[in-house]
Amino acid sequence: MGLLTEGHPLSWEETKKYAQFIREHGIEQFIHTYNKLKDRRNDCLKWGDEVEYIMVRFDHENKKVQLVLKAHDILPTLMEPEHTNPDDCSSLWRPEYADYMIEGTPGQPYGHLPVHFNMVEANMRLRRQQGQELLGKDEYVLSTSNFPRNGCIDFTYPTHKTTPSTSASASLFFPDEVIYPEHPRFKTLTRNIRMRRQSKVAIHVPLFIDEKTPRPFVEDLSIYGDAGDAYKSEAVEDSIYLDAMGLGMGCCCLQVTFQAQSIDEARFLYDQLTPLTPIVLALTAASPIWRGYLADVDCRWNVLCAMVDDRTPEERGLEPLKNERFHIPKSRYSSVDCYISPDSAMYNDTEVIQDADCFHKLTENGIDPMLAQHVAHLFIRDTVSLFKEKIHLDDTQDTDHFENINSTNWQSMRFKPPPVNSNIGWRVEFRPSELQMTDFENAALVTFIVLLTRAIMTYNLNLLIPISNVDENMQSAQKRDAVRHEKFHFRKCLSTMKTPETPCMASVQKSFFQDNECEHRLMTINEIINGSNEFVGLLRIIQDYLSNLEVDADTRCTINQYLNLISKRAAGTLMTNAAWMRNIVTRHPAYKHDSVVSDEIAYDLLWKMTKISTGEEECPTVLPLENDFLSSKCCALTDEKIDENSFIQDECVLID
Ligand code: ADP
Ligand code: MG
Ligand code: MG
Ligand code: MG
Ligand code: MG
Repeated sequence: MGLLTEGHPLSWEETKKYAQFIREHGIEQFIHTYNKLKDRRNDCLKWGDEVEYIMVRFDHENKKVQLVLKAHDILPTLMEPEHTNPDDCSSLWRPEYADYMIEGTPGQPYGHLPVHFNMVEANMRLRRQQGQELLGKDEYVLSTSNFPRNGCIDFTYPTHKTTPSTSASASLFFPDEVIYPEHPRFKTLTRNIRMRRQSKVAIHVPLFIDEKTPRPFVEDLSIYGDAGDAYKSEAVEDSIYLDAMGLGMGCCCLQVTFQAQSIDEARFLYDQLTPLTPIVLALTAASPIWRGYLADVDCRWNVLCAMVDDRTPEERGLEPLKNERFHIPKSRYSSVDCYISPDSAMYNDTEVIQDADCFHKLTENGIDPMLAQHVAHLFIRDTVSLFKEKIHLDDTQDTDHFENINSTNWQSMRFKPPPVNSNIGWRVEFRPSELQMTDFENAALVTFIVLLTRAIMTYNLNLLIPISNVDENMQSAQKRDAVRHEKFHFRKCLSTMKTPETPCMASVQKSFFQDNECEHRLMTINEIINGSNEFVGLLRIIQDYLSNLEVDADTRCTINQYLNLISKRAAGTLMTNAAWMRNIVTRHPAYKHDSVVSDEIAYDLLWKMTKISTGEEECPTVLPLENDFLSSKCCALTDEKIDENSFIQDECVLID
């Protein structure tokens, strides 16, 4: 969750008063960083993953599984190696929103060597073990996007009752005791988001209507918490009502951060990865169950957007603007609203709401309009968490205020400027992926994204489509079984320029952007990943990149297994986690075809996932067989041979 600063949180009333102060100093801090480090060049490729694990406890006798609230207990031990030997530890651990979550990253970022791809999965496995060793009997570390009965009565161990009339979230379902207790930031954010919004956060997730689902489906919410009948009106027909930051931020995701050589490369990468965010979201879909009900969506994304949506009624457009500055179309958790490289400008086809004062200040200080727009857009938000000790800072030595706003814009990509006085370069973070149940799958996804990044940079590929189409794709990606049934806007021709040596930023525009003909069309995920007669397919690009790289046989074999998973999942021959979970639920003998995922069903599902993640049980509908590799020709749709190098040529060979 980005920056975690210790200190005493201010009340919402006090925090509110500092909104403009934080904005002004945040901008000062960014300007300082920019001017100091804008010419920083030749940082080497570094990258690393982040995995958020949950901890669960099985009650085998009663067939019940609960989330164990132990992060506060085990994190000090997990973090000890970092404290005693920060330069040489295998993993780093951080708290996350809920006390049943722990976030692990590799001890050091990986670098440019191909052999590093052979270390990702092993490190993930090691982290899982490190967590596992600190747990008790019948307790397990699991990696999955959303605990299926999160928010149900007694969903944690120990159990806690909700107190909607007094708690930070005012939730009917998610008690404050489930929030990570050792750091005030999480509870403060929860309270302040609600206070700023002037109501509880809310989403009505579409319910999956099965044969015996009572119609209309309307929940009796009066059984929850201490709220009595007051909350009856919050139920909406045929939907699953959620009302707490924890029901979104308590989900787990897989993120990858890259260090680029320079700020320009970071901006290029940010833009190029943006059109991939919905594609990867669909490929990783793993959240079909919410608060004990089957949903009609497969992903966590929209839930998270809603669960931290701090916009006031005016900002949401429900009331005419009177006290607020803007009508803001999206939550501060959302897909990115604009590309940030100068050459991408023509693809920013939606209005980007921005703070005009911030924009002027940035441009007056030498920051170009595209980057200034990005920052001024982030800075339409107020701070929602402020610590007493961290208000008056030296803007040349600190970036807390900038990070305060940057790291609470939870977007599908994040542009991460270098921290002051560090040897870290300009970075971008790829944030949409849902977390998978096995280390193999998570490593495969990370490897796929890193290789794609490498290929994009090596060949100076251009994947840009209008940002409005990326938004549209983001919605398609979350639909039930999107991998098999939805189509996504994707660029028809990815080539940009002749020589990869030429700095890309200057020539991208000239060579390709003048084409008035539609540059993108609707494609299935299968076509995007595996290619067709008309489109090269991302895997072929990766294979080509790999064929020009010296990779030892062992690493190559690992990579091929990973790419095989991506290929088969895109082709629909292997299931997404979400499809598999649905399948387990709907075929369970205790399932009554009424959309309810009972304790018993959740128990069996998670027990199965535990066994699969520890390798005790196979899962051939989700995972490729051990010695099933991706053949060097990775076209699942067609055997037609496409010229291996065609996509890097100047001419657009892949005409629709
Ligand atoms: P946040 O929560 O702010 O996104 P984390 O520190 O949890 O950040 O994770 C950052 C990831 O970036 C880790 O996987 C880490 O290995 C990796 N990383 C660390 N330093 C660098 C760097 N200089 N360049 C790229 N990645 C890095
Ligand atoms: Mg996190
Ligand atoms: Mg992190
Ligand atoms: Mg999270
Ligand atoms: Mg992160």
